[in-house]
Amino acid sequence: MSTRVLIALGGNAIKQADERGTYEEQMKNVNRTAEEIVRLIREGYRVVVTHGNGPQVGALLIQQEEGAKRGVPPQPMHVCGAMTQGQIGYMLQQALINEMKKQRFSVPVATVITQVMVRKNDPNFNDPHKPVGPFYDEKTARRLIREKGYIIKRVRPNGDKPYRRVVPSPDPIGPVEAEAIKRLVDAGVIVIASGGGGIPVIEDDGVLRGVDAVIDKDLAGEKLAEVVKADIFMILTDVSRVKLNYGKPDERDIVRMTVSEARRYMAEGHFLPGSMEPKVKACIHFIEAEGKLAVIAKLDQALEALRGEAGTWIVPD
Ligand code: ADP
Ligand code: MG
Repeated sequence: MSTRVLIALGGNAIKQADERGTYEEQMKNVNRTAEEIVRLIREGYRVVVTHGNGPQVGALLIQQEEGAKRGVPPQPMHVCGAMTQGQIGYMLQQALINEMKKQRFSVPVATVITQVMVRKNDPNFNDPHKPVGPFYDEKTARRLIREKGYIIKRVRPNGDKPYRRVVPSPDPIGPVEAEAIKRLVDAGVIVIASGGGGIPVIEDDGVLRGVDAVIDKDLAGEKLAEVVKADIFMILTDVSRVKLNYGKPDERDIVRMTVSEARRYMAEGHFLPGSMEPKVKACIHFIEAEGKLAVIAKLDQALEALRGEAGTWIVPD
């Protein structure tokens, strides 16, 4: 049976940090990403893809607010999350289909709009800290707190727009569409799912309901990896290897670490919260759920990383 790899794409797979995020820019990045993914498919790997959506959902939230000034009803954040899954899923599907066609083969591709269940009483709901959407001046911030009940925090020390909405970042339990995704993967379909960490939903008296929150895409991607029984969980990002003493003079690459070592380094504070820490945490979860190998690597070194020639490997003890 072919090896199953869950690929979690970082922001750079869709938009570079210095880009504005035009359609052309994003499509160019997505085309390059598709080339990388197709290299793995050609090698015989069966891939399942998830991705981030930070910049895209941020732009969509601004569009909701600006549209509201012209009478277009703004949609809630969880709906915007669904929209970005459609948007990015579409671009990835098209890019993958085109790249395979160029290489004269074809595997069916489909995106599954994915809800991810979170606990109604997740403690993170009491401590919203994930900044989303536009930056505000003080007057607008006060108005939004009053009118919409937003929780708004100062996220920059100065400037005329130092405020931003913050939302909770609850832990994922798992995708609601697990069974549909699993059947598609078992049938050989390249599935794109759980984009942006999934659309966060809670269950209230047996009824699903979307909530305004952001689930970390790496943690949600790991749950997806468990659902599809992935052999390998691979996080593709913008650094070639995870580092010890990150940003310090004695910084050094981690080529390979066991789960115990990963836990120790995490406790020692080597991985920054909100960026590398959730990635390492997701890899630890994956190995502890009987996964064989977790890899964190640079987007354009995916195949090399699977061969053990690049990236950081996280392995069982
Ligand atoms: P993505 O969009 O791929 O999720 P993030 O920005 O969230 O990207 O995470 C990748 C970033 O994590 C790197 O660009 C780097 O700045 C940061 N980082 C924090 N700690 C470390 C570390 N110990 N080793 C490497 N990178 C780290
Ligand atoms: Mg990230």
